Amino acid sequence: MTSPLQELVFDNRLVRELPADPEPDNYRRQVANAVYSRVTPTPVANPQLIAGASEVAALIDLPPTIFTDPQFAQVFGGNTLLAGMEPHACVYGGHQFGNWAGQLGDGRAINLGEVKNRRGEHWTLQLKGAGPTPYSRTADGLAVLRSSVREFLCSEAMYHLGVPTTRALSLVSSGELVRRDMFYDGNPQLEPGAIVCRVAPTFTRFGNFEIFSARNDIALLKQFTNFTLRTDFPDLFPASPAEFTRADYLRWFNEIGMRTAQLMAHWMRVGFVHGVMNTDNMSILGLTIDYGPYGWLEGYDQDWTPNTTDAQGRRYRYGNQPRVALWNLAQLANAIYPLIDDVEPLQAALENYRVEYERCAQRDAAAKLGLSQFDPARDQALNENLLQCFQLIETDMTIFYRKLAQLNADDIPHYADNQCVDIVRESFYSSADENTEAQFAGWIRQYAQRLQQDYVLTGNTHEQKTARMNAVNPKYVLRNYLAQQAIDKATAGDYSEVEKLLHILRNPYDEQPEYQDYFAKRPDWARHKAGCSMLSCSS
Ligand code: AMP
Ligand code: MG
Repeated sequence: MTSPLQELVFDNRLVRELPADPEPDNYRRQVANAVYSRVTPTPVANPQLIAGASEVAALIDLPPTIFTDPQFAQVFGGNTLLAGMEPHACVYGGHQFGNWAGQLGDGRAINLGEVKNRRGEHWTLQLKGAGPTPYSRTADGLAVLRSSVREFLCSEAMYHLGVPTTRALSLVSSGELVRRDMFYDGNPQLEPGAIVCRVAPTFTRFGNFEIFSARNDIALLKQFTNFTLRTDFPDLFPASPAEFTRADYLRWFNEIGMRTAQLMAHWMRVGFVHGVMNTDNMSILGLTIDYGPYGWLEGYDQDWTPNTTDAQGRRYRYGNQPRVALWNLAQLANAIYPLIDDVEPLQAALENYRVEYERCAQRDAAAKLGLSQFDPARDQALNENLLQCFQLIETDMTIFYRKLAQLNADDIPHYADNQCVDIVRESFYSSADENTEAQFAGWIRQYAQRLQQDYVLTGNTHEQKTARMNAVNPKYVLRNYLAQQAIDKATAGDYSEVEKLLHILRNPYDEQPEYQDYFAKRPDWARHKAGCSMLSCSS
């Protein structure tokens, strides 16, 4: 019997239409006048499937049973190529922590090709951690189990939260050990290696445009941009003109701004901190991409970053993400400027980003509180007062909003202060002092009045309000310590917790009372534990 893997249809547009690096050998180098280099994954000793996502298999017409196919781990561990695959790594550059870093590129990612599914959609398959490429610089091209578990789980968790993201088909252990100095402190350890197969319509980043522009290769910048408009933005350019105009490039840049604004609002809504928002980690499609030292807010803190590598400047802290995205968009604007040759409309597009982000953030602030719409006259202050309350005591954001959703506005006038606060008390990491208690109670009373007003205006009921809140405030997120527990077990050869988390995070907004334990504050032991509160770029 033939495997469904054999039936995958590849239509590798990028490889076919764009210039390749002529050098066939795999050694580290600068690559000019090309978009990609051909490179094959490095075979591994003993590829074994750890976990797979059947929803992602379905995107490329594979059945859920595909994960038990003996060939699967061989292919997605990088040992076997299927007919039609044309493995390659792309060149890109980027601004890292605010500085131009020159050529980066797919240093440990190898694209296998673009699957064309029965619906005619193209999905690029990409192995992360499948060995060195011409872009690996001084590193090994490999990935360790801990970071691969984190990428696999978070990709899927984000998708189910409704946050645009690259997807993860599979997580395969390599059967080999990888040397890593987790905290760059001179203590390298051998860790199990793993490979994630990522799936996205394209993995193109801002940095792909920056590199051609930085090298003043305007012909290639134009060719690559035209390819991107034609293949990755069919909704924007359905007719696919023979020649794109300045107006087309501007329309496209505006679209990237809109998508990026929406993405930032999603991250802020669910409490996600990417950790390394370098321009090479910004997707042209507005997807969350490159899961490294990311984290989830537990105690609400605008200044929090999970990334120890960024602990000094905190450039990529939670509250700074929308501003950093704007800065990154400005770098992209600089890169594509030669195609547009006019500063003003690019600046206008950056302003449009700001407006769109504000619109989304206000809409989400209202939704998170169960209000039918954001009324700036009232809700600006209501929201700011809440953020001030969060400063008084460490408050778990996820638990707070889910608890708040249960508040019945009719009850509040009959409640004493402490009864008001009892509604959300479970979200506090310590016991509230008198002032904190009074401030929260005051806010809850203000909020209850606002809700009453909203019910009168809209005819909404308490039940409808609660349901709407629970549709935007997740109950289950991939808390850092939960991911770490799954990693610890997986390192010991037990993959059940990876499976279980994947299962729970498929329905993050549902009550799922059987998993109530996963709706809990970070335990005290995890507060300062590596992997739980501190992560680095080492992965
Ligand atoms: P990141 O900050 O993880 O997105 O990575 C920045 C650049 O470093 C990208 O070009 C990556 O491909 C490359 N890189 C990161 N880790 C490795 C590794 N272990 N081997 C080779 N290249 C890597
Ligand atoms: Mg990256």
